[in-house]
Amino acid sequence: MFSTGAVRCPGCGASGGGLTLSGAEGFCQPPTDKGFFQPDYHILECTSCGLLCRSPTLSDEELSAYYSSLESGHWEYPTLNPPERQISALIASLPQGSNILDFGCSSGRLLKPWVNQHRCFGFEINGAAAEKAAERGLVMLTEETLWSEHENQFHMVILVDVFEHLRHPAELLRRLWSLISPGGCLVVGTGNGDHWACRLDPAQFWYFRNLEHLCMLTHKYAVYLEKELAGAGKSWVTLSHYDVPWHARMRLHVAHAAYWIVQYSPEPVRMVLSWLPGFRKAARWNNAPNYGCCKDHVVFTVKKPSVEVS
Ligand SMILES: [Zn+2]
Repeated sequence: MFSTGAVRCPGCGASGGGLTLSGAEGFCQPPTDKGFFQPDYHILECTSCGLLCRSPTLSDEELSAYYSSLESGHWEYPTLNPPERQISALIASLPQGSNILDFGCSSGRLLKPWVNQHRCFGFEINGAAAEKAAERGLVMLTEETLWSEHENQFHMVILVDVFEHLRHPAELLRRLWSLISPGGCLVVGTGNGDHWACRLDPAQFWYFRNLEHLCMLTHKYAVYLEKELAGAGKSWVTLSHYDVPWHARMRLHVAHAAYWIVQYSPEPVRMVLSWLPGFRKAARWNNAPNYGCCKDHVVFTVKKPSVEVS
């Protein structure tokens, strides 16, 4: 906890200002003998900056081994999801020939449709995914070329499904901010830590039941970031991560409601509910069901001033 003074907030470096929101038992991912084990954990909220984060997390070495164990197509989806479509609308508003960087671009599917209208750059640490992105027409940058040759160069820098993996998000965003040209913008698509379903019990929320998700953005943290970066305006649009058909959405709503009704009921009522059809299964669940049909994601943008503020 930050309140012990032993751990600093990974979002702003503050100590002594953390709240423990909730805790949960550890889990294995994938749930096999060969899975990676996330020990019992708490979700903390920094009272200074508002970032939500998990404590403890796996070490950098363990996370690196976990990422290396994933197949190259792990992050590949056949179509753009709602946050990516929202970002595509932002790209469509840029003048032709703009410089766009997708940081953590995976196989480059977000910028693929734009390679003939704009100058599309990508950065990706997974070799196989980077190769695919290059085949799709993105100019792939290395760690060295990215930071040394592109200061004030990009009209838009995008991070989709990257923020939540970062150990110290503000550090990276500050570096990326320096690559954005005056009047350009930073676009972050990630989990929405303010959604009520998350706030019911953040440690149980599906987003934090992924061991690679170390933190969640909140609107308070977005305000903190805009101030830190000296931005000239921001936007905050919440939406679902996935397109979920209506019948699947109904099932998720019912399962989610059943689980939380059981959880919030006093023990005698819970006993009765555990015999009723509809609640019987929910009463046996150890963890909240995945509630991936709510507006659990956000596309957050910050604009850089047109004239550099000294
Ligand atoms: Zn903080």
